[in-house]
Amino acid sequence: MTAPLPAPTDPDPSFAELLALRPHLTRHAFDGLVMEEVPFARIAETVGTPTWVYSAGTLRRRFGALRRALDDAGLAAATIHFAVKANPNLAVLRVLAAAGAGADVVSEGELRAARAAGIPASAIVFSGVGKTEREIRLALAEDILQLNAESAEEVEAISAIAAGLGRTARVALRVNPDVDARTHAKITTGRSENKFGVAISDAPALYARMAALPGIEPVGVAVHIGSQITAGMAAYRTAYAKVGALVRELRAAGLPVARVDCGGGLGIPYRDEPAPLPEALAGAIRVGLGDLGLPVMLEPGRWIAGPAGVLLASVVREKRGATHRFVVVDAGMNDLVRPAMYEAWHGILPVAPEALVAPLSPAEVVGPVCETGDTFARGRALPAMQPGALVAFLDAGAYGAAMSSTYNARPLAAEVLVDGARFAVVRDRQGYDALLAGQRLPAWLATPEPGP
Ligand SMILES: *Cc1c(COP(=O)(O)O)cnc(C)c1O
Repeated sequence: MTAPLPAPTDPDPSFAELLALRPHLTRHAFDGLVMEEVPFARIAETVGTPTWVYSAGTLRRRFGALRRALDDAGLAAATIHFAVKANPNLAVLRVLAAAGAGADVVSEGELRAARAAGIPASAIVFSGVGKTEREIRLALAEDILQLNAESAEEVEAISAIAAGLGRTARVALRVNPDVDARTHAKITTGRSENKFGVAISDAPALYARMAALPGIEPVGVAVHIGSQITAGMAAYRTAYAKVGALVRELRAAGLPVARVDCGGGLGIPYRDEPAPLPEALAGAIRVGLGDLGLPVMLEPGRWIAGPAGVLLASVVREKRGATHRFVVVDAGMNDLVRPAMYEAWHGILPVAPEALVAPLSPAEVVGPVCETGDTFARGRALPAMQPGALVAFLDAGAYGAAMSSTYNARPLAAEVLVDGARFAVVRDRQGYDALLAGQRLPAWLATPEPGP
């Protein structure tokens, strides 16, 4: 099998081009690659590798840019609810909470993480098709801002649970606008065949039912059409136009609509995709929903956190294969699964100062996991790498650590937050005791017996 090398007309961005678009990363003559004011080499020395490293300044800067885009579009009442699934690290959530972010959660664990990070319950929205009774009870006990219901069945369940507790659930109805966000099939959510939301044609009757049911206060309509949307604003515009029309129809029927949840999904340029800016998203919201005079909510995850993080790894060794040069690193698909799962491209920068000016040749960058899918990059131009040399996988701040596993019995990597000249471990590297903790042998296997 030969690697599909990038066509010469479409070369990968150079190290300099990757750096130019990522202002929190700079290259220093003596320190090599630096995040904010902290050299990655220092982090690796102190914490080891593989390690996720997040830039607090970048989280704040990107949150601020989105906030300004909304304000400038006349959407000052809009609220931003960070999609916790993109990065549930408590320090990351804390930085965003301090900047004014609420949270969009999809599980009890994420709800607990958001609360533990100091995000007020009144700024938390609970999404997802499979909220359990236990999760709905917790959301009600915490008195969160709203639950986004995804089906008629879930509406009935929320009503029964809330009424049983003598409480009122604020519920928005998630609609499926049947638009194609033209992103990866695994992360497109707004087609009618996807599992998410209710058909827009069913929404008026269901919303009326919500208004009639005990224990439910209908508060609005929610939509989320997919993730890593880079194909322009057309899908967003279509979705918001449909939602706008639905809100007018609900109002005409005398039903109360307090707000519209516009979802997340704004993509980022991992390679050199022409990714839309938050100004474009704010514009699409304004065009589709601006004349309703309602506050809107946004649920961005990737756009805020993706570019703020890197996965720092060490080269284990280079291997001269029969047909390829392999650079084997100590991070694997269990850490960063996006290349294996979504065929995702991540920039890879060598950390050492001299590495960035050394001669380059194509390499397959692979992890140690026993699957061919454990390949981070094919035909990537990299210098010769000695064992122990550091590399940074870029744009790993969203759906990175969050999606990691212990596959191949590999402990979860450490997480570090950089803030100016300071850095701190914000999640310990998992130890081997912790890796095996919770497992037990049944009594009948407790004493080893001789085999057959
Ligand atoms: C995943 C998700 C988001 C965030 O998506 P991003 O692409 O990270 O912005 C927002 N809302 C809902 C309902 C989601 O499922």
